[in-house]
Amino acid sequence: MQQEASAIVQTLKSKGLRVTPQRFAVYANLLSRADHPTVEQILTDLNKDFPLSSQATIYSSLQALREVGLVREVLLEQGVSRYDAHIEPHHHFYCRQCGAIEDIAWDTFECIQLNSLRPGLRGESYEVTIQGLCDRCNA
Ligand SMILES: [Zn+2]
Ligand SMILES: [Zn+2]
Repeated sequence: MQQEASAIVQTLKSKGLRVTPQRFAVYANLLSRADHPTVEQILTDLNKDFPLSSQATIYSSLQALREVGLVREVLLEQGVSRYDAHIEPHHHFYCRQCGAIEDIAWDTFECIQLNSLRPGLRGESYEVTIQGLCDRCNA
């Protein structure tokens, strides 16, 4: 755990970020989970052992982490921002019944040819969201 903490501090510093307790806590929390939490979920989790956090400080920490590319925002449901510290390209599976979200490895699908768009459109990136039922809901 000590090792992990110093690795996190190193990562933040390597991106030129000042290491604040809030940024550290938010980033460590995101690295420790794979469920793509909302700000509210991060707040609930952090307040268990870091009771000074407010939604505003979490937002500003997330903003700083996003600006340096350590965290990305994922929009899988309309109007709901979720956050992901897994920044390598990947797709998502979204369970329409329970809302569970799971990462899908990038090479699961064949590449989409962005140059098959109609002339005039220049595609730059894409990712796939598969909607369906997770193992539990499908049982
Ligand atoms: Zn489900
Ligand atoms: Zn993800």
